[in-house]
Amino acid sequence: MIRLLQKHLAMGQNSARGLAKGSIYNALYYLSLMLPMSMVYYFIEDVLPKIETGQEVVFRYVAYAIVTVVSLILSGFFYYKHYTAVFVSTYEESEGRRIRLAEKLRRLPLSFFSNRDLSDITNTMMEDINTLEGLQSHAIPQLVGAAMSSVIIGIGIIIWDWRMGLAVCWIMPIVLVITLLSSRFQKKHIRKHFETKRRVSDQTQENIEHMADIHANNQTERYMKEYNALLKEEEDTHKMSEIAMSVFVNGGQSLLKLGFATTVIVGTMLFEQGSLSLLKYLIYLVVAARVYDPVSAVVYNLSYIYYGSAPLERTKELEDSREMTGRTDVKFDRFDIEFDHVSFEYIEDIPVLHDVSFTAKQGEITALIGPSGCGKSTAAKLATRFYDPTEGSVKIGGHDLKEIDPETIMTHLSMVFQDVILFDNTVYENIKLGRKNATEEEVMEAARLAHCDEFVRHLPDGYQTMIGENGARLSGGERQRISIARALLKNTPILLLDEATASLDVENESKIQAGLSELIRGKTVLMIAHRMRTIEEADHLVGLTDGRVVESGSPKDLIKDPKSLYRRLRTLQLGEQ
Ligand code: ADP
Repeated sequence: MIRLLQKHLAMGQNSARGLAKGSIYNALYYLSLMLPMSMVYYFIEDVLPKIETGQEVVFRYVAYAIVTVVSLILSGFFYYKHYTAVFVSTYEESEGRRIRLAEKLRRLPLSFFSNRDLSDITNTMMEDINTLEGLQSHAIPQLVGAAMSSVIIGIGIIIWDWRMGLAVCWIMPIVLVITLLSSRFQKKHIRKHFETKRRVSDQTQENIEHMADIHANNQTERYMKEYNALLKEEEDTHKMSEIAMSVFVNGGQSLLKLGFATTVIVGTMLFEQGSLSLLKYLIYLVVAARVYDPVSAVVYNLSYIYYGSAPLERTKELEDSREMTGRTDVKFDRFDIEFDHVSFEYIEDIPVLHDVSFTAKQGEITALIGPSGCGKSTAAKLATRFYDPTEGSVKIGGHDLKEIDPETIMTHLSMVFQDVILFDNTVYENIKLGRKNATEEEVMEAARLAHCDEFVRHLPDGYQTMIGENGARLSGGERQRISIARALLKNTPILLLDEATASLDVENESKIQAGLSELIRGKTVLMIAHRMRTIEEADHLVGLTDGRVVESGSPKDLIKDPKSLYRRLRTLQLGEQ
């Protein structure tokens, strides 16, 4: 059972063990509830005739009373044990599952995220795991416990009197088979409901994010119309999934009542024929009034499990996604970045880079130039192993990145990109992120070299000022200076730079340039160059057009060629001939 739970619910071993234990306690609980009923029978069978004949019965009274009280205490005990085993294992599993997924997300290639919405992943992490929590804490232990006790009680009452036993039990397998056969139908509607629910959540997030654009473009009416249609679709699929479930749950539970009718009919017949005692008949009636409870629980919980199938599938899909792994013990003795016949596509059959080869040498600045969309950022992302090339290889110091653990690569590499990621924390902590064990002096030194001092001085709490979500309280230039300070602190041999100072004012730009020249000294620098003026200092230019290398050389050499891409871009941007 433990292996089954681990396989089908993707649970950890300890939690599966806890859940199995909880389910067994649940079965014992149902069984202990049946014990007082058999005591009533034996009491009437055994004690009443003795009272009539005037025999001493006090001892028997006490014995039956004790067994009844003990069975009730036991039922309380089993319920308590079931409850604690199940809930402890459920919360442990939910925590473990979220941690496992977070770890997994960290190790997945970025291609995984380009095919999925962020809200999709957030929903799996939060809502789907909550649904699984419900399955684990309620549906599964109750299903297993109720099924086990139904079978044991069913066998017991058939053995005691097979005719009456069958009259009570015949309906149970029929209801069960109907419920099992309905699984595909129920799951189909449940899946549809979850799918539209997911779309509503994506759409809601998108609407909030783009609220300003929607207003600015007078699109409110169109958006509201689409949104209302989606909400209506969600309502309809929700209703259908509820109907699909309730038809089988309520139908099954009503069908079970037929068993009570056959118990009365068969019991009356047998009693009339004189082959069933009145007492046994009454006991079977009492049993029939209770015995369908666990079977109803089986039917209900099976449907609940069908309900959880969609979130379970999505969680398993995330858990089973292929990770980026590799060696962690690679020793680098140099840090050249080499692109060796690299081709790459984000989406199948839409190539973005074709047979790209160049080397960014250690101690040099290599700048990628070319029109927007030619593949510069993509090449930089391949150098960080955010993605693996479709063909060819990217190497650092002669080691193919495909064989190296992405986190190991990141320890040798810093990035100063356009879209700096800042956390809702203080300026100080955001810089310190570059190197967690840096001392206060080292953080301050990096901040000074990156020219952060000037703007931090004007903040209310200096370096201890909270900067808001993704640095919302800072300007673009200030955010970039923080990211330069971070990279200075990290002090890695490789630096990837997105030279994106174009939108900044002159003062900011010169501060950033000053910070950058500190940063790049003696390193392997791969720069995504947007403006031709700032790359005169580069040692090596690689010109890309439509994902292909069209030229490669020093700025001094390339400028001499009137047909070079570099020359043309300079002409375009600076008006030089
Ligand atoms: P550049 O940095 O030179 O402006 P990019 O490397 O960003 O160019 O983009 C190269 C091509 O790849 C473009 O056509 C762009 O639309 C496409 N592209 C970039 N990122 C993705 C992505 N995550 N998924 C699909 N296509 C992408």
